[in-house]
Amino acid sequence: MTFKKILIANRGEIALRIIRTCREMGIKTVAVYSTADKESLHVRFADEAVCIGKPQSMDSYLNIPRIMAAAEITNSDAIHPGYGFLAENAKFAQICNDHGIKFIGPTAEMINLMGDKVTAKDTMIKAGVPVVPGVEGLLNSLEHALESAKVVGYPIILKATAGGGGKGMRVVWRDEDMEKNYTAAKMEAAASFKNDGIYMEKYVEEPRHIEIQVAGDQYGTACHMSERDCSIQRRHQKLVEESPSPFMTKELRKAMGDAAVKAASCINYEGVGTIEFLVDKHRNFYFMEMNTRIQVEHCVTEEVINFDLIKEQIKIAQGEKISGKNYEPVMHAIECRINAEDPFNDFRPSPGKIKILNTPGGHGVRVDSHVYSGYTIPPYYDSMISKLIAIARTREEAIDTMYRALSEYIIEGDGLKTTIPFHLQLMQNEDFRKGNFTTKFMETFVIEK
Ligand code: ADP
Repeated sequence: MTFKKILIANRGEIALRIIRTCREMGIKTVAVYSTADKESLHVRFADEAVCIGKPQSMDSYLNIPRIMAAAEITNSDAIHPGYGFLAENAKFAQICNDHGIKFIGPTAEMINLMGDKVTAKDTMIKAGVPVVPGVEGLLNSLEHALESAKVVGYPIILKATAGGGGKGMRVVWRDEDMEKNYTAAKMEAAASFKNDGIYMEKYVEEPRHIEIQVAGDQYGTACHMSERDCSIQRRHQKLVEESPSPFMTKELRKAMGDAAVKAASCINYEGVGTIEFLVDKHRNFYFMEMNTRIQVEHCVTEEVINFDLIKEQIKIAQGEKISGKNYEPVMHAIECRINAEDPFNDFRPSPGKIKILNTPGGHGVRVDSHVYSGYTIPPYYDSMISKLIAIARTREEAIDTMYRALSEYIIEGDGLKTTIPFHLQLMQNEDFRKGNFTTKFMETFVIEK
């Protein structure tokens, strides 16, 4: 089967990213948009565009009946969900496929299996993939949590089984602090995910977050495309990603790659996905979760292996076979997330209208962004306005290219602040330049005014 028309159930840079690949493949595109996004580039660049409702996500990008209606009236063969919104919504995947519209991603069963973190961990234990030590299953009471902490050993982390976006996680160091954290974690989980299921893991101290990109086809073949290091995080949210990881060795890549392929194979995974691991200082690695979608940071992998991951998603959804060969990085790529946030004021969202925009260019620079001069960043959605990617043969050169590109980047407007000043300082930081950092890095990093 080859798709003639794909509806993109998303907005912003990822909608544009998908349109670009579809154009290259000769596939027509349908954009959907909320009234807040009618001036957005994804609307302008798609072949057709359908307004699906008001700015609030529930009325537009999360509104399944309206998206399905848009797909039906435009006669779309497939839906690409991007990331966020409905990308990991099993019900949506099922509804698409029930309507004869191919969901570009895994099946509803696979999304369900990996979307619940407790079930995902159990599946990985059975497949022989190392997981973060902890107690199996959900915690059913405070007493159970206290008992479990004795078995696991402090420090522990309480996590929401339906969690995502770094929400609902609490680190506990001693018995006395369990009650308040257990209650808070449950409440946060219920409020954010409508599911108050909490589980317990050993809190890995000073780990790196290293994830492996995988792909699997409809015939059970899977491969990996090496790693991304996403240890530079703030409140469990990624700020910078790179590939290869400065912490990586040939042996570790082989071991983590094999584990990731095993993880994808054990569920006959279809589509592209990411296996997230925590790696401790002794280079022990532990499965944390699987993301069953394209990720924000997929671009660094595309650049280091010279490969279009969106094209791969579409080809897999069309029923094409993959070779099963694994990919090794041949370049170094770093991505900085440029958010409309004020780095000098606790990274507070600072959206507004862009009055002056100068986008960097030149050798080794890629910019994935939907913004333009005169564009108003709507306050309703996430604050990411651009992904700046620097590519070079070595890590040192990639950092130099990134610093140069950041220095050229001008995004100005009334009240509008961006994270560019933070990234400039990070690129000059000695520990960052040496590759000497863990997920704790941002806790001590001081941004100079
Ligand atoms: P989410 O799905 O909300 O992003 P993850 O399970 O991917 O949550 O975890 C996000 C981040 O939280 C990780 O990258 C890591 O920094 C931290 N984290 C999660 N689990 C642990 C753990 N057991 N020990 C230490 N840090 C952890």
